[in-house]
Amino acid sequence: MFKLFRRQEVVPASDEPKAVIDVREITKHYKMGDIEVQALRGVDLKIIEGECVSIMGPSGSGKSTLMNILGALDQPTSGEYFLDGVNVSRLSENELARIRNKKIGFVFQSFNLLKRTSALRQVELPLMYAGVSGRQKKAKAALEAVGLGSRIDHLPSELSGGQQQRVAIARALVNEPAMILADEPTGNLDSRSGTEVMQIFQRLNREQGITIVFVTHDPWIARHTNRVIMLRDGRIIADRAVKEPLIAGESERPSLADEMEEILQAAYYGGQKEEYN
Ligand code: ADP
Ligand code: MG
Repeated sequence: MFKLFRRQEVVPASDEPKAVIDVREITKHYKMGDIEVQALRGVDLKIIEGECVSIMGPSGSGKSTLMNILGALDQPTSGEYFLDGVNVSRLSENELARIRNKKIGFVFQSFNLLKRTSALRQVELPLMYAGVSGRQKKAKAALEAVGLGSRIDHLPSELSGGQQQRVAIARALVNEPAMILADEPTGNLDSRSGTEVMQIFQRLNREQGITIVFVTHDPWIARHTNRVIMLRDGRIIADRAVKEPLIAGESERPSLADEMEEILQAAYYGGQKEEYN
């Protein structure tokens, strides 16, 4: 498979595996007139370097709120968040923006690409903001890493949905972030393109050791990750290792609803649903 740039050497302070995400008793309250919405009600969460995790849960359970905090796009009301060892819960807007650009790669459901901009240029942009040199070479390498080496001059309109999402992944990767946050990254893709995109994420995780956190409604996607965290009403109600994660492209997505249901149960509960009901 492709070769990507080497990950930065990380020297652990101790034998403990390094936590990329370390969230301690985080709450998030929104004020809407007289009403206060408690979107997160005390979340503790550690994600270790090299993990591949899904966050699941019904609408309104707090997934986006948690992702915004993990992505340093928003601050918690209370509690602390250490991102790659840095306490970000007390940083100013500017400091947050800097850390975000350096440590986090974002991939969104809707790709969020610029319309009249070539793939190469899209991937160069984060390097420009970071003031990095040798941009073209690095952007090319990232596009090659997602299998788009021959399409670097294409505009988004000249690429399929799956290819556009791969440009977005290259853009997320190019700054060598500590982790990638992917919010429903296959939500706008057909099954085949979704599989291609999952193959890339899995390779980045397994071969490059890049930490990946997905938000997904799709149990089939969650079944391809190593750990599933389930939110409900602003709390983590389940946190399970996935038994035998699927390898993207190796098995066909089931078309029957009850087979899908089984996958959902395996992903949410690691086959031990009775513990939670
Ligand atoms: P999810 O992504 O799981 O659907 P959210 O994090 O978007 O959940 O929302 C969690 C709760 O917080 C919901 O009750 C939602 O209405 C509320 N909420 C989210 N964002 C805001 C906001 N900016 N202002 C007020 N309430 C919000
Ligand atoms: Mg949401």
